[in-house]
Amino acid sequence: MTLLEIENLSKTYPGAHGTTVKAVSEVSLSVEAGEVLGIVGESGCGKSTLGRALLRLIEPSGGDIRFEGKSIAGLSRRQLKPFRRDMQIIFQDPFGALNPRHKVGAIISEPLKVHKIGNTASRAARIAELLALVGLPEGSAERYPHEFSGGQRQRIAIARALALEPKLLVADEAVSALDVSIQSQIINLIAELQEKLALSIIFISHDLSVIRHVSDRIAVMYLGRIVEIGPSEDVMETP
Ligand code: ADP
Ligand code: ADP
Repeated sequence: MTLLEIENLSKTYPGAHGTTVKAVSEVSLSVEAGEVLGIVGESGCGKSTLGRALLRLIEPSGGDIRFEGKSIAGLSRRQLKPFRRDMQIIFQDPFGALNPRHKVGAIISEPLKVHKIGNTASRAARIAELLALVGLPEGSAERYPHEFSGGQRQRIAIARALALEPKLLVADEAVSALDVSIQSQIINLIAELQEKLALSIIFISHDLSVIRHVSDRIAVMYLGRIVEIGPSEDVMETP
């Protein structure tokens, strides 16, 4: 089953002196349910813009996005709300996304509150479940983000992203800021969760070596376009 289809998606930013920057140019691709799609390309080629535009975290300039067959490109913020539960994103710098004044438990359960899911007791149980899922000790809920290492903070961000049981997770350079040994721990965690939860994942990275082992297919971006897409083995064989 196809989960996400994007068709001729474009994003243009205003540039200096009245010029425009075409960050994403007419990109079409689809993601199957349970599939891991890697998107790779050098810095500035438009990966992050594509990842955010397809979630409508930034407004596309053109093209269509269909999630489970329904077009979300023209929906208002209010109409988008039910789709937000199904599509989550994690970023390179989890610290930036974690409110330093909130305890980890509150951070992880915030999406549940926003979507008015459960009560205090059921949310506490869900926090414990999510902490276990990402391999953090239960007592973490009562601590603050700065008490954790970079890798652990990314685990917190993952727990938060999974709170609403999304169908699609976009990981945008999610391990790029981490030490190499920690990178593989987090990649392996995401791959384990992908299988356990039958998630679809879009894995964005400038570094092919980071995503090659976990991607079913890889799309190569260059100057805002997808120049190659196919099974990981095929893409990696290209000289
Ligand atoms: P990548 O994720 O591959 O590094 P980005 O999507 O961040 O690429 O950027 C693609 C292009 O769009 C780059 O030329 C970048 O400078 C430009 N760009 C990104 N965000 C903005 C913005 N908010 N305003 C103007 N230009 C931007
Ligand atoms: P606001 O707090 O005003 O909603 P944000 O910039 O925090 O503004 O978020 C913009 C939109 O993106 C919101 O609708 C929010 O639900 C959604 N959003 C924010 N973070 C995430 C995330 N990690 N995954 C998916 N959607 C997100």
